[in-house]
Amino acid sequence: MIARPGAISTKHRSVLIFMNKDKQVLGKYFPEKAVDLVFTQLQSKKVQLRISRKRHTKLGDFRHEHNGKPHRISINHNLSPYSFLIVFVHELAHLYVYEQYGNRVMPHGKEWKMAFRQLMQPYFSLNIFPPDIEHALLQYLQNARAANGTDLNLTRVLNNYDHADLGTVEVEALADNTVFSMPDGRVFKKLSRVRKRYKCICMQTQKIYLFNPLTQVMPVTTDAS
Ligand SMILES: [Zn+2]
Repeated sequence: MIARPGAISTKHRSVLIFMNKDKQVLGKYFPEKAVDLVFTQLQSKKVQLRISRKRHTKLGDFRHEHNGKPHRISINHNLSPYSFLIVFVHELAHLYVYEQYGNRVMPHGKEWKMAFRQLMQPYFSLNIFPPDIEHALLQYLQNARAANGTDLNLTRVLNNYDHADLGTVEVEALADNTVFSMPDGRVFKKLSRVRKRYKCICMQTQKIYLFNPLTQVMPVTTDAS
């Protein structure tokens, strides 16, 4: 699973389910050049791909087959094609690790990292990624410390593509005392940095929260005049 950085967890359920019969559907979400290989991989591993609603807590997840149900990978629908592909490969690596080791190894341990690296290789060969993403991704692949499967630098680069048209920014980019809103309507004020996180106060409840620096928020413009 790829956890989504953020202080607020909301429980959204997947709403759209695609059995991967239709290759054309994949072209709506994946980079064009990746579609053939993705399709082959889905078929060969008999994976059901779920296009999920946007979840604030995670970008995707993998559930292994059980009780006659196939392997399932779910991915949030609102990602850019690049992020969508990277999340897909991330979850597919979980599937490969599961087939080889069951649940006997760490979710993002060395077995997973090796599988992720190997599965990513053919996509590099297809020249799919823009240079900035490719660079961050290569660094990420070499970085043995990305123990939870996420990486701040890679996330930053991908965010440029994911959120380009939404008008949202990362909490870390806001000046202190900026007021911002979250998708659930709550309004916060950014206070100060605490180690790697940002202390923010909820204007409705006066409660203090610690935000991941890359949480996407919508700055609230106040008319001062
Ligand atoms: Zn994972």
